[in-house]
Amino acid sequence: MSRPVRVRFAPSPTGDLHVGNIRTALYDWAYARHTGGKFVFRIEDTDRERVTDEYINAAIDTLKWLGLQWDEGPEVGGPSAPYLQSQRLDIYADWAAKFLAAGDAYHCYCNPEELEASREAQKKANIAPGYDGKCRAISADDLTRYQSEGRKPVVRMRMPDGSTTFYDAIRGDVTFDHNFVPDFVLVRGDGSPLYTLAVAVDDVMMQITHVLRGEDLLSSTPRQIRVYQAMAVKPEDYPIFAHLPFVMGQDNAKLSKRNGEVSIAWYRERGFLPEAICNYLALLGWSPGDDKENISMQEMTELFTIERVGKNPARFDMKKLEAINGDKIRALPVEEVIKRALPFMESAGIALTGEQAEALFARAIPLIHERIVTLAEIPDYVRFLFTEKFAIDPEAKEKALTADSLPILAAAEVAISAITEWKLEAIETALRSALIEGLALKPKNAFTPVRVAVTGARVSPPLFESIELLGKERTLERLKAAQTG
Ligand code: GLU
Repeated sequence: MSRPVRVRFAPSPTGDLHVGNIRTALYDWAYARHTGGKFVFRIEDTDRERVTDEYINAAIDTLKWLGLQWDEGPEVGGPSAPYLQSQRLDIYADWAAKFLAAGDAYHCYCNPEELEASREAQKKANIAPGYDGKCRAISADDLTRYQSEGRKPVVRMRMPDGSTTFYDAIRGDVTFDHNFVPDFVLVRGDGSPLYTLAVAVDDVMMQITHVLRGEDLLSSTPRQIRVYQAMAVKPEDYPIFAHLPFVMGQDNAKLSKRNGEVSIAWYRERGFLPEAICNYLALLGWSPGDDKENISMQEMTELFTIERVGKNPARFDMKKLEAINGDKIRALPVEEVIKRALPFMESAGIALTGEQAEALFARAIPLIHERIVTLAEIPDYVRFLFTEKFAIDPEAKEKALTADSLPILAAAEVAISAITEWKLEAIETALRSALIEGLALKPKNAFTPVRVAVTGARVSPPLFESIELLGKERTLERLKAAQTG
């Protein structure tokens, strides 16, 4: 009988979640939503030296920001609470004690030097490295000696001879020969559990039906299955595994946590929208069945199946993500862009104080809405409207404000000061007739110095609209200033 679907996302946040983690979380979430099952969020924090509260909170925040709402986990609780492994240590200790009592596991007293010596010997003899089974049958004398030396034993799982075969929903049957899966540690000498014990116990106790996770964990699967066996789980109740292929960097190197560019926080700070990240990662290794590039979270939950996850590594393509981000920004209503841009204005140090500033910002956004790729570009585009201490970008100044531009700026100043009714059409007409007709200039030559003088940059929102928003007084001030200095 098939059990109700329960999938889990189980990160060990030793830093910010990265692209690979989030793709896993997204596929877990989508699979749960597609099947009407539950999405469980579990924090694997048994290594509290590396997993800090700060990283845990950041992981929670990132999932929320992306809209990957979990049904059970931190903050929301659930029938298998607690969902932080550091709060479940007794459970792992109990199971380890049962495994010892049943003879599935044993105490191993070997110290690091002995393990190292055995590894060296294996290397010389050209046999697969791994624990040699020395403490499987320990003599009474040895035991007394180790105990008198004060050695603290680890708990080691006994791996029987043979092999483990399991079905992986992405790669089919996978077999591991136990010659390459030596007896492994479940509990350290200090009593703390290892990942393999905690993950397997929790997947069983939380009744997880599907384990979608990164390919890097494929080789840990036979060990987890060994723990299920020791827990007397029936094979039909094992979760179905689906190991997602790696996400490679653009140069085909493996994306690594050390590379800041892969952390989701990095993208967030640079003004990528959560829906663009989800859209992009959805298609990075999964296909909805056609060439569709724009997919909503709703569509993803409707269409997501494991069968459509590819077997080959996916290559991360920044250009594609940027294109999707631009599309998603264009698809947002202006009010929404304004709302989402506010934190970026704040971190760029541009204060929008007062209704007037807010209204001005609301009028500026439509001017750039179509052209921006990320929200983080907004402050630079509109800074000229809000800054008290206006300054021209030095490079733009050097290139565009030369001696040749002085007559242009002077003519623009005269034309602008003659405008009586401050309207877009009037501004455009005045400048065109003064510069294009009056000075017989090409538009680019005429308007670049004006643009640099009034906006401070060579790239800006459309010029006449920018001038209209800036107002007559400030425009004239800046045209004058550009001629003098
Ligand atoms: N906690 C593990 C990690 O972050 C993943 C656990 C799993 O999905 O099995 O690497």
